[in-house]
Amino acid sequence: MEAFDKFYKKTLEERREILAEYAELTEEEQAFLASTGALSLEKANHMIENTIGIYSLPLGLGMNMRLNDKEYIVPMAVEEPSVIAAQSSGAKLIAQNGGITGTTTERKMIGQIELIDVPDTKLAIEKITANQDKLLLIANEAHPSLQRRGGGAVDLVARTVTTMQEDELLIVHLLVDTKEAMGANMINTMVESLAPELEQLTAGIANMRILSNLVDDATATVSCRIAPASLATKTHTGEWVRDRIIAAYEFADADIYRAATHNKGIMNGIDAVVMAFGNDWRAVEAASHAYAARTGSYKPMTKWSKDEDGFLLGELTLPMPVAFVGGSIAVHPIATLSKKIARMESAKELAMLVCAVGLTQNLAALKALVTEGIQRGHMSLQAKSLAMTAGAEVNEIEAVAAYLQETKQMNVMAAKEYITKLRQN
Ligand code: NDP
Repeated sequence: MEAFDKFYKKTLEERREILAEYAELTEEEQAFLASTGALSLEKANHMIENTIGIYSLPLGLGMNMRLNDKEYIVPMAVEEPSVIAAQSSGAKLIAQNGGITGTTTERKMIGQIELIDVPDTKLAIEKITANQDKLLLIANEAHPSLQRRGGGAVDLVARTVTTMQEDELLIVHLLVDTKEAMGANMINTMVESLAPELEQLTAGIANMRILSNLVDDATATVSCRIAPASLATKTHTGEWVRDRIIAAYEFADADIYRAATHNKGIMNGIDAVVMAFGNDWRAVEAASHAYAARTGSYKPMTKWSKDEDGFLLGELTLPMPVAFVGGSIAVHPIATLSKKIARMESAKELAMLVCAVGLTQNLAALKALVTEGIQRGHMSLQAKSLAMTAGAEVNEIEAVAAYLQETKQMNVMAAKEYITKLRQN
């Protein structure tokens, strides 16, 4: 990864040259990166309804990621300054300490069928259990290719929930190994085809038939262990920084207002990677926040503690309904390119990488917050953003941003006044 040293100091063209050589990009792939819209209007027109154009976002590369002893260059699509810088600095700190360890569970996604007006839910559950094989067969016949790929519907679980009106609902979960796909469409097809048989068995009415995004049988877990010495700053010892990071986690655990922001910072990195890989980031958002609230209280997604040797331990487990195929992945050229850049080989590997970025993002944010504060690092990019908002041309941005920082006037009015002055000279 030496070629990527001081990547942030290179020009846009130099960065693309380095990447082209590293990832052996074709001429066509290099052209995608040189354009502002790799996705063609024709394709976009077939992706959604009422298409009128393409909305572009910056695509950047997160550096220094070491996960399960493999080094990654991480594609990230994001509009917010500092997210990629935080990812790269958090990952560097962790890599210096041996990197991140990641694991995944099997990938069992969930399809839900809600049965209402069931006369005897206990009897209905017994019948579902007795007919499990037949029900799984019906589900698998609805999308047979999945079994041919070694996956398919593998289990059925029935339970009841009580509504606010004290009505008892019978909920059936169909567990599906979706292999390399997220599986939303596959599962929706399966649960719709299963519903008539369940209605017959239970004498109820199938109301909702759709996947659940809370895929707690498809989680990824990542962890890191950091020597206190590597956390030291000019003004604080490593032990001090470690203890403040743990205290910041405990604050988030105790206070939902802080937990929301703690988790937003984690999702800064997660969403950016999920988007670069053409995946459904709303699904990952929904899964992550629901999982954070699974105990009934909304909690921080990461956990920070120290071990008996005084090392800082970080851990993150999240449901990860990400996909390596399907959806818009093959349609969006950048999604395909991202796989190549990250040398990504499977949905499980992507699930771990996404979580790893969440962990590094959180470490960088907490470390900055408990030491120098978040604003110092944000300032230069924030100043550029203000300059652009105030109408600075490309050749004026640097000068306007420098003026705002020097004069400590971080506002659009000051930027506008300076632009006017620049243009008068
Ligand atoms: P697709 O409908 O694209 O299905 C996956 C496709 O990938 C299938 O055509 C399958 O082929 C193919 N495939 C190729 N190789 C493999 C492999 N190794 N393993 C598995 N499949 C393979 O996508 P999904 O069913 O995954 O659904 C995802 C889409 O659904 C996303 O766009 C998402 O936004 C959307 N969605 C999300 C919802 C939610 O989150 N609540 C709700 C509804 C939709 P074959 O057909 O031969 O099996």
